[in-house]
Amino acid sequence: MGGNGRLGTDVRETLFRRVEDRAGDLVDLTRDLIRIPTINPPGDAYTPCAEFVGRRLAARGFQVRYVRAEGSIGDSDRYPRTNVVARIEGRGPGPCVHFNSHIDVVAAGAGWTVDPFGGEVRDGKVYGRGSCDMKGGLAASIVAVEAILDSGLPWNGALEISGTVDEESGGYGGVGYLAGQGFFSRPRVDHVIIPEPLNVDRVCIGHRGVWWAEIETKGRIAHGSMPFLGDCAVRHMGAFLQEIETDLMPALAAKRTTMPVVPEGAKQSTLNISSIHGGLAEDFDGLPSPLVPDSCRMVIDRRFLIEEDIVQVKAEVVAILERLRRDRPNFTYEIRDVLEFLPTLTDASAPVVRAVEAGIQEVLGRPAQQVVSPGTYDQKHIFRVGHLEDCIAYGPGILDLAHQPDEYVAIDDMVNSAKVMAAAALTLLNGGPA
Ligand SMILES: [Zn+2]
Repeated sequence: MGGNGRLGTDVRETLFRRVEDRAGDLVDLTRDLIRIPTINPPGDAYTPCAEFVGRRLAARGFQVRYVRAEGSIGDSDRYPRTNVVARIEGRGPGPCVHFNSHIDVVAAGAGWTVDPFGGEVRDGKVYGRGSCDMKGGLAASIVAVEAILDSGLPWNGALEISGTVDEESGGYGGVGYLAGQGFFSRPRVDHVIIPEPLNVDRVCIGHRGVWWAEIETKGRIAHGSMPFLGDCAVRHMGAFLQEIETDLMPALAAKRTTMPVVPEGAKQSTLNISSIHGGLAEDFDGLPSPLVPDSCRMVIDRRFLIEEDIVQVKAEVVAILERLRRDRPNFTYEIRDVLEFLPTLTDASAPVVRAVEAGIQEVLGRPAQQVVSPGTYDQKHIFRVGHLEDCIAYGPGILDLAHQPDEYVAIDDMVNSAKVMAAAALTLLNGGPA
């Protein structure tokens, strides 16, 4: 171990050889994880998956805790929100490095040419739902930590691995819940690496902000043959949509960030219309009845930049609605916040950033790229609830493959990322990067 915190060449070689020796095991572990279909929603098979991870780490001497997020959104006896947190102590006191992966995956959807839950290996890739996002990353972090243990190299402090639920649906029953219980705060934890699929040579230092809101326009019901006797809520919503197109969208496109967001299209503010519904419900058989809709509801998904203030973000939308109320006869509306998270941005020279960047340079022989994610991930809870800022996302998956059919993770990327994780963790446990 070098006095400046860098790993000596012999130490690196020992560590990297241990990871390489375990490449087959890394593939098997990923396949086993894929075969547990932890689909969210509704939150299937969380407990068996958490226990699978827990059993493996308990056998290596980890203290394993299962934490059910009782009472959180979606938690029930049929679909318990079961998280696993495993911890192992080093020789003496020191910092704690924590690897956090979500174990939930999104539905498979259509268009697969392989079994989404079969864990098929072909052409140096492991296929399956969650291979990239992010069971390949979880497996890499487990093998990275096991390689440190097997190497016999000395280290102080503690290593933690968690498998958490519900990231795909906001993370309230997973990292959000655990953060509320102190699992992601000092002094328990100092550095967090989240192996989300941001590509093997990138360090993700944060994400844009998000605001979801539901807007309802109101009308008055009447017979559809005499719409002039009623007031059509859908037409009112149409007027609002028109204003969004002509007024708000160009304004958002003009807002640019200095955050290194990828892909390029997300370097500006964005707005998605997530859903719109007005008039009769759609889930019935038979013919509709002739009615003027008295309500129309729309959900918007606004992603904002670190340069923006959320108060201003909301005010832009309300200003349009207020203008319509003033100028358009009978226009009335309600607006309701659904979800909001501020942007997060880890200091570009924070210890965990530098340690992982050094690992990428060593393992891949090229400089790391710092990026920011267009969407949020569990870092928001660690930042907001745990007040822990030394946190990044780094993992082997390719960002574009997340949630796609025929999702895969490349075996070489998993092996390389496991080396980076092992080197970065050992550096942080032994005094931090130079
Ligand atoms: Zn993910």
